[in-house]
Amino acid sequence: MKPTKAKNNNKNKEVSIQEKGWYQKSINEIEIELKTETTTGLSNDEAEERLRKLGPNKLPEPKQVPWYLLFLKGLLEPLSIVLLVTAIIVVVAPYFAGGHPEWVEFGVILGMIIINTLLGMTQELKARSSVKALQSLSNPNATVIRSGKQIQISAHDLVPGDIVILQTGEFIPADIRLISSSHLTVDESALTGESMPVVKNIELLDSKTTILAEQKNMVFMSTFVQSGRATGIVVAQAPLSTMGKIASSIAETKAQKTPLQLKLNRLTKWVSVIATVTALVLFGVLIMIDVFRADHTGISWSENLLLSVSSAIAIIPASLTVIVSIILSVSTNQMSKQNVIVKQLQAVETLGKVNVICSDKTGTLTINKMTVTKYNQVGVTRAASSFTYVSDDIGDIHFVNALTLCNDSIVSEKDRMGLPTELAMYDWMTKMGFDPLTLRHKYMRIDDLPFSSDNKYMVTVNQVDDKKVVYIKGAIDRILDKCTHTVIDNQIVKLTSKMKEQVLENAEKMSAEALRVITTAFKVLSEDEFKNKDYVSKLVLTGIIGMIDPPREEAISAIKIAHRAGIRVVMITGDHLATAMAIGEKLGLVREGFVGLTGEELDLLTDEELTKKIDRISVFARVNPDHKTRIVTILQEKGLIVAMTGDGINDAPSLRKANVGIAMGMNGTEAAKDAANVILADDNFSTIVSGVSEGRNSYRKIKTSVAFVLGANPQIIAMFLIILITGISPLNSINILWFNLIVETILAIPIGMSKSDPNVMSLKPIKNNESIFSRIWLLIIFTITSTAIAVILAFIMGFYVFPGPNAALTGQTAAFITIAFSPIFFVWMMKFRPDRKERHKNFKEKVKDANWALFGAMIGAFLLNVIVVFVPGVRDVFKIAELKWELWLVVVFLTISPAIVIFVSINLAGNQIRRHNDPSYENKLRKRFKKYRRPKIANNYKLLRDSTVDIRHTKKVKDKKQKTATPA
Ligand code: ADP
Ligand code: MG
Repeated sequence: MKPTKAKNNNKNKEVSIQEKGWYQKSINEIEIELKTETTTGLSNDEAEERLRKLGPNKLPEPKQVPWYLLFLKGLLEPLSIVLLVTAIIVVVAPYFAGGHPEWVEFGVILGMIIINTLLGMTQELKARSSVKALQSLSNPNATVIRSGKQIQISAHDLVPGDIVILQTGEFIPADIRLISSSHLTVDESALTGESMPVVKNIELLDSKTTILAEQKNMVFMSTFVQSGRATGIVVAQAPLSTMGKIASSIAETKAQKTPLQLKLNRLTKWVSVIATVTALVLFGVLIMIDVFRADHTGISWSENLLLSVSSAIAIIPASLTVIVSIILSVSTNQMSKQNVIVKQLQAVETLGKVNVICSDKTGTLTINKMTVTKYNQVGVTRAASSFTYVSDDIGDIHFVNALTLCNDSIVSEKDRMGLPTELAMYDWMTKMGFDPLTLRHKYMRIDDLPFSSDNKYMVTVNQVDDKKVVYIKGAIDRILDKCTHTVIDNQIVKLTSKMKEQVLENAEKMSAEALRVITTAFKVLSEDEFKNKDYVSKLVLTGIIGMIDPPREEAISAIKIAHRAGIRVVMITGDHLATAMAIGEKLGLVREGFVGLTGEELDLLTDEELTKKIDRISVFARVNPDHKTRIVTILQEKGLIVAMTGDGINDAPSLRKANVGIAMGMNGTEAAKDAANVILADDNFSTIVSGVSEGRNSYRKIKTSVAFVLGANPQIIAMFLIILITGISPLNSINILWFNLIVETILAIPIGMSKSDPNVMSLKPIKNNESIFSRIWLLIIFTITSTAIAVILAFIMGFYVFPGPNAALTGQTAAFITIAFSPIFFVWMMKFRPDRKERHKNFKEKVKDANWALFGAMIGAFLLNVIVVFVPGVRDVFKIAELKWELWLVVVFLTISPAIVIFVSINLAGNQIRRHNDPSYENKLRKRFKKYRRPKIANNYKLLRDSTVDIRHTKKVKDKKQKTATPA
């Protein structure tokens, strides 16, 4: 007994040592255990070696259903089952009813099942591969120290022992033990569901805890840095990370369905019910006819059953779901080619309905490459190139220090890392002969407060000789209030309110020239101030600089397109109002009757007031991320569909709230990308507009295919009528199945592959709750009636007028040819809304934009039909009779008549639709805002400055208008 116990004890001890969590180990212990060095990191070779041994830092991929199981799954679809049962009945029933089993029909039905299932399966595989391709596009980077150098690598290449640098908004790429941290808070909601950020530190924990939130010196994979920065050692790679352990238990995520897909599924279900009832009634009628007929036609009940079942199949628009998913996947692919990465399929649809786009300014509407063009010291504004530096002037010294030390950007020959604002300062300083890196080395940083969109400034504390000095740079309205002094003639003097006004005026002038204004200040810290971290007070102003970030050329035209498409564009920026208005004007986004509003003014407005005003606001300046959520909410309450862009971690809530959250692919944080529905690979505003165009196009294609599929299912009406009149079915079961499962599908699928039409951008946005049938129901009715009439006429002509030896068979053949060939012609006519512009296209353009896939499908379907009708052997299977030439003439005419009817009606109806759609938004707005007309938009923000909250009284505007109008 005893020895065993001792052994047990021993084991327990071992286990407890092993189970000591990373948070309980000192940095030293970890360094030794993971054979790494906190200052230099792993060597490049060692890192490579570890990566080879351990594999990439990737979460386990969910298991995927193999293709053969997908195929089997397809066979278990209700439609396939019905067909299978039918096929069996065809063979088995004759044994009971007396007769021969219909092996040929059995084979044909089986073949159709296989073709149909294969079509569905390839589609699913294709959709899957495009999802994979998209996933690979969002591959986050990590900043690490290797061989003593700071480099950027793909997060997939991280290995245990790597030293990682984490910054605000970044995705945490592995489980990491912190070595140093500065004001680090982490959003761990991905792991814990707790949305409050967790404050982290580097203190060693000695007690054991399983609660993640208590492991304060650790950060975990798949969470986000909410604020601050830190360095740490990677202790666990993806599969062994906390997230990896959870993720491996997650099965394959189900493909999402868009609202429209759900609607269509519901529709299909309903139609299926109707189809079943119809089939039952039809079966009853057929049996009755058979019973009461004196001459038994020899149609056995099994054949009647087959006929009823195939009619039911004919009514069910089975290909619809396949077609819609093809259209959506073609659209997402198309979008990713245009740099719009769709994370959720719904977004394709919602993008098509967007009627307001709220866009960031910097980087999205502008090129995000800033250049310092002006600076202002002691109240004098000069060109940036004429900066003169007096080496013993305190003003100059601290001005340069602020620009170089309170700056995280790094420029080397190879690359440029950092925020554009800071890069601009870096560039300017190097041009003026300073080396920021040397200065940073000379005056080491002791502490810092990183830039955040909420604060709009950045602070560092540096050891300058024997003093601790605060450097701050940021928005003028956040810093000037905190300034008590400034430097004049190498003397620190009190900053009077008059001087402040002067500074503000200078800044205003720069802003009006569309310059971003940054203010710099410093202060020498007392011991107390340093201890209390009292950094942002009693500052000494050193200067302001102005930098230009030119608008993107493409954005200007994209805004024009958006306006024409009935979409409002609203600019949201943290920048100064005057700067924003000046840029907005250049972009053509600040139009007549539109004004700007600042975040502060926004705070003073009640929801009702804002709701009233928001229609006239095209620029929101000086906003915090919180304001963005409020703006989205108000717009949505007005029934608008809002797209909102964002890049920062604080943008996540507004991105989630918006109907389409759009994150920036290049400059966006991982947190923003995580919250968004769509990622812009190129950060470019015009890309959003092409996404909207693609969304509208996919919607249009879906509508067209719905119209085609529902319109081309008229046999049943015709059949019912004819059966009631003649007692003979105008089509036999094989014919019905052939037309429905083969011809129709071949023609419908390429509808989704038609070229996207830019003309959709001259229409109004799609209404949010628009029914599937809106604007196509007439088309569907026209199609159904014209085809039904053609089929009935064909049958009557064959049966009564030009009958062959077997009148019933002749009638059936005539009807079959009509129904099988007519959609080949009318599918080309089908358009959900013809465009006026399209008619102005010349021949070359028409050829270029034609839907060649559909054209090919038409020829393919035609040839297949020809084989069925003419090739001996095959035609026997389909029970095709010889037709007289007169009947042929009639049949050919009837075959093309639906196309003619549809062409004529669509053009008549089209005129109305066009009128409904076209009134240019621009004109309408102009009319609506006539009373607000004013000569110069530039006055808008001046007015804004004058009146604090009430942006513009109509009266004031009118007065002004009259004043300025008279001299002209
Ligand atoms: P935007 O909406 O244009 O992207 P930001 O939120 O980036 O605006 O910036 C808002 C304001 O914060 C700017 O006008 C500027 O005054 C200040 N600012 C921007 N970047 C920095 C930075 N790196 N350091 C300090 N202040 C900054
Ligand atoms: Mg920004």
